[in-house]
Amino acid sequence: MSIKQKSIERNIMFSLLWYTVFTLLLLWAFQVMFLNRYYHIMQKTSIMQAGSQVAQHIWSEDADTQLERICFSHSMCCLVLDEKGESYSSIDMLGRSCLIHSPARFSLVKLINPVLSGRQAEQVLRVKDNHFRNESLVYAKAVQSAEGQRRIIILNASLDPVGSTIGILKSQLKIISLVLLLMALMLSKVVARRLSRPLQRITSQAKRLAQGEYVADYDGGGIAELDALAQTLNFSAGELSKVEDLRRELVANVSHDLKTPLTMIKAYAEMIRDLTGDDKPKRDAQLDVIISESDRLTALVTDLIRISRDGEQNRPLSLTAFDLRKMVQVIIERFGQTNPEYTILLQCEDDATVYADESSIGQVLYNLISNAINYTGADKQVTVRLSRQPNGLLRTEVRDTGAGIPEKELSLIWERYYRSRNTHQRPVAGSGLGLSIVRGVLTNHHAPFGVQSRVGAGSCFWFELPMADINRALQQMAPAEPSAPQA
Ligand code: ADP
Repeated sequence: MSIKQKSIERNIMFSLLWYTVFTLLLLWAFQVMFLNRYYHIMQKTSIMQAGSQVAQHIWSEDADTQLERICFSHSMCCLVLDEKGESYSSIDMLGRSCLIHSPARFSLVKLINPVLSGRQAEQVLRVKDNHFRNESLVYAKAVQSAEGQRRIIILNASLDPVGSTIGILKSQLKIISLVLLLMALMLSKVVARRLSRPLQRITSQAKRLAQGEYVADYDGGGIAELDALAQTLNFSAGELSKVEDLRRELVANVSHDLKTPLTMIKAYAEMIRDLTGDDKPKRDAQLDVIISESDRLTALVTDLIRISRDGEQNRPLSLTAFDLRKMVQVIIERFGQTNPEYTILLQCEDDATVYADESSIGQVLYNLISNAINYTGADKQVTVRLSRQPNGLLRTEVRDTGAGIPEKELSLIWERYYRSRNTHQRPVAGSGLGLSIVRGVLTNHHAPFGVQSRVGAGSCFWFELPMADINRALQQMAPAEPSAPQA
């Protein structure tokens, strides 16, 4: 057992023991120590209440019946005297033990005088009856009618000895104390075990997380807080395993992407060395392949550097006016050489001079056209269209005829490392970084961008840049909020 589990058990045990001891102390105090005093206070309150009730009914017509009822319910005897001290009414519920009906055992004078003289409104005396060796409470109260008549109410209740009751309670409380303490100990063990077992399990499972085993099988054992902890750990394990999958996938993709151009470069260089000889056109074509594959390598490494810097969105832009049409043509040419079986069309308006960061926009175009080539349909056709918009922006569209992107994935494809698992009909080497770079560059430009796609019909990625009218461009470059990708 670990220190933590012990401390849980100890905590519960101490709490339960404290609770039990406190309950027992309360029981002992009220049932044993204060029982006598408590009983006397209760009896005194009872006799005074009865006195008030009798005072209320003493002048009524059914005074005797009421008196009898009150005496019966309070187990006491009652004597009502007139001013001269003569008995007006008398009820005896205590029989021989009634003091006020036994002048030999109790003198009423001492009780009545202070009340009659008006020195005290009412008086309660605790009196020892030597005859029966017990105690009694005697109460006196003077009342006056509306006509000025006075009467004295005298009540008597016996104080039963509680010593034997206390003895019984004491022996019962001893047993109860023992049982409660044992139960507290047992209960603390059971509860501690119930709590510590799932915790112990979760701890040993969590150790596996540290060792890179991302299994989401935590169980809180039906205890709400532990279930919440288990759920959080399950979630974390799931997320960690996703990150781990992405990492593996990325390493695999990047390695693949690096290997393909390297193999090509090596193969073409060997061809030039061993086979081509002095055939200049052939050698030039092969050198072009080497150059374009080197460009691909450079682009991939640039992608990785940009991504690892994680600062694309904050990188200061170097804005210049440049001809986007020319840039697209160069990129299309480059792709055409390495992908001669693909038709890449350019549709363009006359003026396509934009004001933007040239190298970043080149990166965007490279990624979008490369994706279009990778994902286009069997007709192997890609169209790039540049068109001036009524708002003065130049819209660039890169359209393919491929499988398209399901609607639920449209917002995900811009995420870093995201690669769809469903839409690829053929294996496409990719890092899942391209579109996240595109998003970073265009967001940095505050440029609207997005994608329209229909499953089975193809996709159209687009973005809009300000034309190179510098004044107007500057106004349009700094909107309050960056625009979100639009589907
Ligand atoms: P990748 O290197 O995988 O192409 P990207 O970030 O460029 O990474 O793209 C992310 C994902 O978006 C791709 O894996 C693919 O599923 C989807 N995607 C991108 N462009 C297209 C497209 N033209 N047609 C269909 N799906 C695309």
